[in-house]
Amino acid sequence: MCGIIAYLGQKNGVPIVLKGLKRLEYRGYDSAGIALKQENNLKTIKAKGKIEQLKALINGENSNIVIGHTRWATHGEPNHINAHPHTSEGIAIVHNGIIENHASLRKELEHKYNYKFQSQTDSEVIAHLIDFFYDGDFEDAFRKMLTKIDGAFGIVALHKNHNQMICARKGSPLVLGIGENETFVASDPSPFLDHTKNVVYLDEKQMVIINPDSYQIKDFNGYNLEKEVEKISYGIESIQKQGYKHFMLKEINEQNETIKNCFRGKIKDIEMVSIKKENFQRIVLVACGTSYYAALVGKYIIEKTTHLPVLVEHASEFRYRQPMLYPTDLVVAISQSGETADTLEAIRLAKKIGCSTAGMVNVTGSSIAKECGQGIYLHAGPEIGVASTKAFTSQIIALNMLNLYINKDPYYKMKVIEEIKKLPDQIKSLLENQNIKPIAEKYRNAKYFLFMARDINYPVAMEGALKLKEISYIPAEGYPAGEMKHGPIALIDSEVPSVFIVTKDSIFPKVISNMEEVKSRKGKIICICDEINEEIQRLADDIIVVPQVKWEFTPIVNVIPMQLIAYHIADMNGKNVDQPKNLAKSCTVE
Ligand code: GLU
Repeated sequence: MCGIIAYLGQKNGVPIVLKGLKRLEYRGYDSAGIALKQENNLKTIKAKGKIEQLKALINGENSNIVIGHTRWATHGEPNHINAHPHTSEGIAIVHNGIIENHASLRKELEHKYNYKFQSQTDSEVIAHLIDFFYDGDFEDAFRKMLTKIDGAFGIVALHKNHNQMICARKGSPLVLGIGENETFVASDPSPFLDHTKNVVYLDEKQMVIINPDSYQIKDFNGYNLEKEVEKISYGIESIQKQGYKHFMLKEINEQNETIKNCFRGKIKDIEMVSIKKENFQRIVLVACGTSYYAALVGKYIIEKTTHLPVLVEHASEFRYRQPMLYPTDLVVAISQSGETADTLEAIRLAKKIGCSTAGMVNVTGSSIAKECGQGIYLHAGPEIGVASTKAFTSQIIALNMLNLYINKDPYYKMKVIEEIKKLPDQIKSLLENQNIKPIAEKYRNAKYFLFMARDINYPVAMEGALKLKEISYIPAEGYPAGEMKHGPIALIDSEVPSVFIVTKDSIFPKVISNMEEVKSRKGKIICICDEINEEIQRLADDIIVVPQVKWEFTPIVNVIPMQLIAYHIADMNGKNVDQPKNLAKSCTVE
């Protein structure tokens, strides 16, 4: 959460940083600000709200050294004062993360040393600490500040007397963009992708001193480190809307391609899945949000077809209880960004116990990818809409890849591979022929929605409900259809739409009975099915037909109509689809 972009070069960095902030807005958008160096002065401009509000305050400022931040508040409400950069006597900093010991540091700085704090943020202590230690040597003061702070951070700092930027990372991502006579630092490469594709990902506890003609990476003790420059494989088009009204709609429509990119290569040689084959006795999947629902789908697949026990855990719960882990467990972290703080910590915990760990992430070089050192990349390309869509379907492909990798039945593997190859075209035709908008129009004013399914599609029902909540703010619940009578049925009346997934499989008649129960109570039924029969026709008010696919892939074709229902309702109701309120992507805070 929160986006950082900083520039040091020969051009005017102000428009570069503002444009970069716009691209990072998906990481936080409650306030934003920049600081720039002019001669031996720093100027800070901040605004509550979106980057547009900040832009309106820019009055021809020009500087070769600029830092910028778009915030997702953790400490202190989103307002002008709490927006970053934070300053102290000729110092300006931007920070992503949480300084856990900020309260005691603040107390000491205020009471013992008379520092005056402006904001309620945890971040402001960073600026004052640098000032406290500063005696002419910016780098030294910065390093001393690092010894005092606990928690997670990505920091970029400026000092009015130095033509330098100093950055450090621990727990929150930072990547350097290496251009010609210019250097960028950002939370991810998207803000500088039109300037350079050459990047250096900072690792944990690394800092960088950036000068006009050079940069030096160091550890926190000041020892020089050499790091390889990598090249970004995707182009600028992957972070543009390409004619779509929203990123979310673009990302929904890309899913035929993105799932192909996930299995491409791996199905030719499943050993390409980079996980060391130990004799796992069990798989533990840890994840948050949408990734957690993908993990639940993975449990259904692996347990049914490979007969290996699978435990699925909310990373945030897992960390703080006493999980029963064994060294014979494979613990897999699933996260789109690869930066989800709770998931990352869960992996560290598993490593301590001696478990094998693997990452299932979208962002290459992300913290989880590095921490695990092995796993499966989703290769879905940047996901910018805050509500995850294409990452979910790619996670299901990746879980199928993991399952194929550990499954010992060659016939099963052959069958799955045969069917997976058909999937991109089936998804393409689903996307081209769907007619969800009129259904969304019909139910856009509903006060509450229920999503129901059974078996492997039960997690998909929860994901459908989550999508709707996230972007349209309509309360919704996902439920195993068989559980309805134990509670949610009380909510059914003629105003409440229930979305049912009805796949032609062994539990088909059971789901039909659950639809009957809703119908008897005058509830409205939207049915997502892969075959229409008389019963569905009689019970459903609206029917969405999806392609018939192998059981393992039904969550993929069933979730797409749900993503589109959520999208169209939110859009029709005038909500900010890509940047829903209170949410942000890449949860680098716990
Ligand atoms: N903890 C800081 C704040 O609330 C930074 C939050 C973030 O990473 O966006 O301002």
